Amino acid sequence: MWLRLTLLILVVALNGCASVPSERALAVNGVVFADDQRTATRTAELLDEMSARLDALDVGLVVRPLEVWLFAKLDDADIYGGYDAPRHRILLDAQRKHPAATLAHELVHAYEPLSWARLPAVVREGLADHLAARAVPEIAAQMRAARAVSLASYATGGLPISVEGPTGRISMTRLAVPISETTLSPLEALALPHGGIRAAGDGQTLKALYGMGLLIVSRAGRERLVEIAQNEGDGALVDPSLILAAARLSADKTTWLPAIEGLLQGREELDFARQMLGQPPLPQDDSNASDADVRD
Ligand SMILES: [Zn+2]
Repeated sequence: MWLRLTLLILVVALNGCASVPSERALAVNGVVFADDQRTATRTAELLDEMSARLDALDVGLVVRPLEVWLFAKLDDADIYGGYDAPRHRILLDAQRKHPAATLAHELVHAYEPLSWARLPAVVREGLADHLAARAVPEIAAQMRAARAVSLASYATGGLPISVEGPTGRISMTRLAVPISETTLSPLEALALPHGGIRAAGDGQTLKALYGMGLLIVSRAGRERLVEIAQNEGDGALVDPSLILAAARLSADKTTWLPAIEGLLQGREELDFARQMLGQPPLPQDDSNASDADVRD
């Protein structure tokens, strides 16, 4: 009874959910709890597969057994998962669109090596996205597009951005990005403590911060960031200006647009970005295409 009560309080505190998953399935890398046996078993298989894929990346992740709890629906529509570090437990929305990638992202948090401890929370989110995309390459383009669109909103305040098309035929595409309410500066964002990201603002802000993390990791590289964490300064967190310098990004965001456009360099990325913004797909690049097919 006491245990059940404790679990309920934990679940309410973390997710606003009222029920504890009743079924469970064992995995090599831990145990999965879900509302039905089939989901638990499937997720246990996924846990082992994603753990093996992340381990095979050979980037210093420390694979160790953990718990995964699946819920029918997390309250916050923008959040598909979370990692409860003290309990070494991953919480997932069972209805999420990309279960493998979401689980891989949370597993990166769970398997983080000590050498990442001084990296800002935003950068650690970027590392989780970056490595999840390597473990589940089929979602990489969509992830880059989603993060780029959110981040462009943050960087420009909603100005249109120009992206060089993936073919010579389409020279320029305009993506009108919705305006974000975000007011955090990059230096403030990179000084957020662990666990501080979700308290930093609304859903748009959260997405922009994840975009910032992915952009920084894409530009600075994981190895350079870890090197900085190990060798530079002596504070609890790495000086945010060192992180921006490694990623070749200015503190005032004026140089960010070309960098963000760098995340949208593939045809797939552009199509996903346009889809998110309610724009029609670009014309196909085939030999019958004429200049009249080039749309803005
Ligand atoms: Zn995360």
